[in-house]
Amino acid sequence: KFVEILSIPFIDSNMDEFVNKIIYPRIMNQDKTFVVTANPEIVEYANDHQDYKDIILSADYITPDGVGIIMASKWLNQPLQERITGFDLMNELFQVADRKALKIYLLGAEEDVIEAAALKVKRQYPGIDLVGYHHGYIDIKDASLAMSIAELEPDIILTALGFPRQEKWVSKHYPLFKKGVFMGVGGSFDVLAG
Ligand code: UDP
Repeated sequence: KFVEILSIPFIDSNMDEFVNKIIYPRIMNQDKTFVVTANPEIVEYANDHQDYKDIILSADYITPDGVGIIMASKWLNQPLQERITGFDLMNELFQVADRKALKIYLLGAEEDVIEAAALKVKRQYPGIDLVGYHHGYIDIKDASLAMSIAELEPDIILTALGFPRQEKWVSKHYPLFKKGVFMGVGGSFDVLAG
């Protein structure tokens, strides 16, 4: 079920259902999946930039990231169940990955931040197969890094390049990958690194 707000179709779900009934089965089926956790800034930017909007609309799922989106859905009398933020979804996926020994790749943030974030993931989730990570100060059009990531065949690829760069990176390099759940997580690695 979807609710359209400012011409962006948001999935009406809750975190548990979204992770366990939608995303997890897709990982198991190796169905390539692009998730956008869209906050009001992303929606506004998308409505001002058609190329970015096309990328957002190409996602398999767009989740409401922010109370502003939930409030808008209430005004439209089509209330969305709950907020699904990038940071929360990242942590839920870490937990699933820990239990199921999934392969994760982390792309983004400053060099020292990504190193600290990777260390934190390894310590906190020993079951995760962290196949690699890279800082986010890259040319998003460069395919060589993306190709080397694709060779690692991660189940989950988290990009923390800030919007619109993180979604542009996913959209550009998506065809190189055979499988994987892709999601931009904004400043989440900075929070994770502490
Ligand atoms: N970032 C990056 N490469 C860039 C620009 C930003 O990896 O070229 C990282 C930045 O270090 C931070 C993250 O992107 O970890 C999110 O940045 P910001 O808070 O500006 O983005 P937003 O949360 O607004 O999407």
